[in-house]
Amino acid sequence: MPQDKYTAVWVSHSSMGDFLKCPRAYFLKNVYKDPKSGRKIAVISPALSLGTAVHEVLENLKTIPTEERLKRNLLEDYEVAWMKVSGKKGGFQSAEEEAEAKARGKAMIERAIKHPGPLAKKTVRLKDGHNGMPPNFYLSEDENIILCGLIDWMEYKPEDDSIVVIDFKTGKHDEGEGSLQLPIYMLLLNALQKRKVSGVAYWYLDRSDELTSMKIPDLTEAKEKVLTVARKVKAARLAKEFDCPRGEEGCFACQDFEAVLNGEAEYVGTGGYGQDIYIIPKEDTYEDLAEII
Ligand code: SF4
Repeated sequence: MPQDKYTAVWVSHSSMGDFLKCPRAYFLKNVYKDPKSGRKIAVISPALSLGTAVHEVLENLKTIPTEERLKRNLLEDYEVAWMKVSGKKGGFQSAEEEAEAKARGKAMIERAIKHPGPLAKKTVRLKDGHNGMPPNFYLSEDENIILCGLIDWMEYKPEDDSIVVIDFKTGKHDEGEGSLQLPIYMLLLNALQKRKVSGVAYWYLDRSDELTSMKIPDLTEAKEKVLTVARKVKAARLAKEFDCPRGEEGCFACQDFEAVLNGEAEYVGTGGYGQDIYIIPKEDTYEDLAEII
């Protein structure tokens, strides 16, 4: 019997990553809704905002024909993208903190201008899913589990009609060995398009001009690995069991969200997915540079 996508359990790289850190952290980020607003909650941070602005500039290039891409003024695009995350709504609590993050992001864009690599080559785009949802497919139709995800960039290799999958990284650390990101991309591409994947790579934009090639995940292993985590997510949702495994001890993975629940966070607006966005105030250091005349 065909399943109903609205009752399915949807999993993605970020939601499964949250679950693997801790079931309660997953609950707070992906399930919990504020009883007053009826909306999910999110905590914004400088690192997230920097990543959002840089990704927006680079990923927008997918919509432009190859020969036009390098003519674009990416630094101007970056200024526009930055406006959307500037100030408290981007999680910045002082003008210095914002200037430092903005400069780091700008250096990444300058690197991409100097060494455009895959950005200057033909690309393949996956169409969005139904109703503007991210690309998705049934990881298990019997179990009503859907896997979804957005792939940053796919370079097209005309010589053998294949693609190289590229993930832009704006953080300071390398992606961990056991990351589900590349296995998830392989599964999405296998289900949603017909070309062979001839390479997978990360682009560490803050420290490398080149792509860092990774081993192409085996599809069978990828499915097993991702489905194992997805089943655990589904079981926890069905049982509504998202308890803290550390008890009183606690840890870092959910402390910001707990601060929101305890009324210790500051509401700064509504996010792109309709969530209530908060920051965790350090002290009132943000200098208001606007002037009302
Ligand atoms: S404090 Fe507990 S609930 Fe929060 S992330 Fe850590 S283990 Fe999970």
